[in-house]
Order: sequence, then structure tokens, then C-alpha cells
Amino acid sequence: MALKEYHRKRDFTKSPEPVGDEQKDRAQRKGKPRFFCVQKHLASHLHYDFRLEHDGVLLSWAVPKGPSLDPKTKRLAMHVEDHPIEYGTFEGVIPSGYGAGIVMLWDQGTWSAEVDDVSAALRTGDLKFTLDGYKLKGSWVLVRTGGRWGGGDGRSWLLIKHKDEWAGELDITEFAPKSVKSGGDFEDILAADKPDVWQSQRPAKGGEAGAMLAKIVERAAALKSGKTLEPAPAAKRATASRTKATKVAKRKSTKAKSTTPKRKTSAKR
Ligand code: MN
Repeated sequence: MALKEYHRKRDFTKSPEPVGDEQKDRAQRKGKPRFFCVQKHLASHLHYDFRLEHDGVLLSWAVPKGPSLDPKTKRLAMHVEDHPIEYGTFEGVIPSGYGAGIVMLWDQGTWSAEVDDVSAALRTGDLKFTLDGYKLKGSWVLVRTGGRWGGGDGRSWLLIKHKDEWAGELDITEFAPKSVKSGGDFEDILAADKPDVWQSQRPAKGGEAGAMLAKIVERAAALKSGKTLEPAPAAKRATASRTKATKVAKRKSTKAKSTTPKRKTSAKR
């Protein structure tokens, strides 16, 4: 696919996203460990962009519900255009145009293929691999589905965790919701950029994403002005559910070897 489609969709005079150079990247990255990342992207809908470095670009899938550590939970992953390598560490605000919204670097690390030929695995639609990130580790598979999920256009895949010591029932997106780059949440990323960017014409207006974005804009503006906000009911709810996730994790850790804190300390990046 290369970067043609990526470039066609974007206006780089308006977007802070990197332009990228696949020829240069292919040469420079040769022989180095392959990079992977997951970017949490609040655009018209919240989703998680799952990216694997291969042959000078980042192969990319948009995962609406994000990755699951539970092998029984198969997550829909829409294959989207390849992205430049440089995109993998991007975090920030896309003020308008394609993908307008906030991008958070939710996880990053290295990956290795469990097959000899990645290009062939992509063609057959069955790519097995191992991740070594902060939040995601162990063995996974991306498998292309037939017409059942997306009308048979070949873009619908499933992201599935294989059973191993890194699998479990912990809801990783809820348990570890923040950036591995800045440590912040969406409002911190927006506050560090231009919190007034969406006083009108927000990229997400209605629905869950719209409500989420409205709150984030408000909290980012408060952060920027140095005012402390009254804790919003939504924030209290989030804390409560996070506490619950922690309890679940603690309960789990007595049975299983792997816990998220351990993942964090064992990560290289
Ligand atoms: Mn996206």
C-alpha cells in the first residue's frame, strides 16, 4: 500500500502529522528491531490504531474497542492505510481535516513475527506475532475475516490474544488508559496544545465521542488557565471504575504471574 493513500488523505500545511519518507525509513530501519505502537484516537469515534512496522512503513489497523487481553474476546480491526514510521511516536492534536481530534500514544515497543514471511502472511490474512510493549505483551494474531463483519471488502480483520502468561481478564484499556509518552490523558494533551481549537466545529459533535470531547475541551481549558475544576461526576465515576479494575487486577495477581505493574517495569522503552 505504501504511503500514497496516507498522503492523499492529508493536508500537511494544516495537520501536524509527519509526512514520512518510506525509502529513507526502509534503509535506515533495516536490521533493527521492529517497532509497534497503539495510538488512542478520539476523532468522530474513539478507537485504537494498532501499528506494526514492516518494510519501511507502519501497517495499520483501527480497532474500535481496543485490544483485549482475553483470548475469548476477538476485537474487530479495520485495515487502514500504511503510516510513516515517524507517526509511531506522534501524540497531539489534529485541528481539522482527516482524523481531526486527539491522538494519544497509548502503548509502544517492539514486535517480532511468528512467521517467516510477513508479506505472505498479510496476503493470506493470518499474521501471528509477539509484542513487547508497556501494556501489551506476548503472542497475538491478526486474522482477516470473510464478509461477515465488513461486507467482504477484505479490510476486516480480528485482533486476538493467544493464551499465554500475558493473557487475562483484566480490561487493559480501562486499567491503563493514559499515554506512555507524556503520562497524560486526552485533556492534558489538548491543554499542552491549543485547548481553544474547537470552540466551534468540533470533530465529534453527537454521541459518545461528542460528549467525551466536550468534557475534554472544558477540562483542557481549565488546566491551561490554571483553574482547578470541581471534580465532575464523570471523573468520580471513572475513578470508581478504575478502583474496581485495580481490585480485579490484585485478585488476579494472586493467581497469575503477570500483572500490569510488572509489565511496566519490564518494558524497555
Ligand atoms: Mn485513527
